[in-house]
Amino acid sequence: MSESPISFSKLNLNQQLVETLARLGFEQPTTIQEKAIPHILEGKDVLAGAQTGTGKTAAFGLPIIHNLMMDASAEDREASGKWIRSLILVPTRELAQQVFDSLVSYSEDCNLHVVVAYGGTSLNVQRSNLRNGADILVATPGRLLDHAYTKTIDLRRTETLVLDEADRMLDMGFLPDIQRILKKLPAKRQTLFFSATFHDRVKKLAYQILTDPEEEQATPSNSTASTVTQIVYPVDRKRKSELLAYLIGSRNWQQVLVFTKTKQGSDALVKELKLDGIKAASINGDKSQGARQKALDDFKSGKIRALIATDVAARGIDIQELECVVNFDMPYKAEDYVHRIGRTGRAGNTGLAVSLLMRDEEYLLKAIESLLDERLPQEWLQGFEPSLIEESESERPRKRQKRSAEKQKMKSKLNIHRNRGKRS
Ligand code: AMP
Repeated sequence: MSESPISFSKLNLNQQLVETLARLGFEQPTTIQEKAIPHILEGKDVLAGAQTGTGKTAAFGLPIIHNLMMDASAEDREASGKWIRSLILVPTRELAQQVFDSLVSYSEDCNLHVVVAYGGTSLNVQRSNLRNGADILVATPGRLLDHAYTKTIDLRRTETLVLDEADRMLDMGFLPDIQRILKKLPAKRQTLFFSATFHDRVKKLAYQILTDPEEEQATPSNSTASTVTQIVYPVDRKRKSELLAYLIGSRNWQQVLVFTKTKQGSDALVKELKLDGIKAASINGDKSQGARQKALDDFKSGKIRALIATDVAARGIDIQELECVVNFDMPYKAEDYVHRIGRTGRAGNTGLAVSLLMRDEEYLLKAIESLLDERLPQEWLQGFEPSLIEESESERPRKRQKRSAEKQKMKSKLNIHRNRGKRS
């Protein structure tokens, strides 16, 4: 990443931390890191607009680690038991694991106790990891509450709260859980609020929980990373999977993340691609944690070329240098488009975002274009041009009406015959 010319040492981060970052190959801070880190080091609340791929985890993680190191904690922790000093709430298991892995690598040699807790994995292992509290706990809201209610942890002295991907947490219905968690935290704390998009409910929550925050933006609000090339291919419904297989093969994409709107759709597409000889797996809410992890590992290691995901399942997956994201189905929410294509063109790499557009999804494209305030280029692919008379969702009701009118006509004719029959 070379978005900004300043170095990490200029940000006044602990020298040991700077050395670890150099070892990890982090030469310069990204925009959001450069903007947010000084405020967080000063103890201020921060409202940050940053999508995955902008380096947001380090933007909050590094100053938190720095502050914890400055304020030696290990002895206190052992003496007191179950205090959680910094709490990072994330919407999904995958993101929890990814944020945890990042923080562990950043805090190497820092003697900090970093723990992760999310559903679908053993409560007892987490309890044992938390028996002396934690300097940093990364957790999904539901599992965090499990631990809070069973008194595995004590949040009354938590110094820093991070809400990561706050928009997604609200979309996933976590607001009640977040409110419950907030009640358990001290009012006097530092709060860091990260979100890729800011619809009204997100702003409302931000105003409720932040105190006089510094506002910083990684990229202009609701925008897509400028390193991503976007293209829309109009296509008929029945030819979509064939087109996808063709693109993967002819363009020689080795690693493509494909979004479908339903879990069933993701499984069906895996089958279709396999028939075309393309190794694929799906990652969706119906899969066990183990199956999801295996699909992700196989994708990362190159065993499979296409990972088919729903929006919820894909949230927070960190795959570096992902060359291509495909919207097999257009997202219902325009904000999801921003999240989806945030998977490519990450960390300064260039990326490609391809959307397969059926005629009855055009209104979804319009919503995306108005959110981004730009027209996305469209191209008809030779051999896959959409037919002019494709039946669209919007045309269906009219057809249905026509059919039921015809049926009605038939029925009344039949009635006439029956009635005639009765009379005779
Ligand atoms: P994130 O937005 O936190 O998901 O980070 C995206 C990717 O960028 C992660 O794989 C990080 O390891 C990487 N990254 C974050 N900050 C930097 C940096 N300053 N230099 C190089 N890579 C970075």
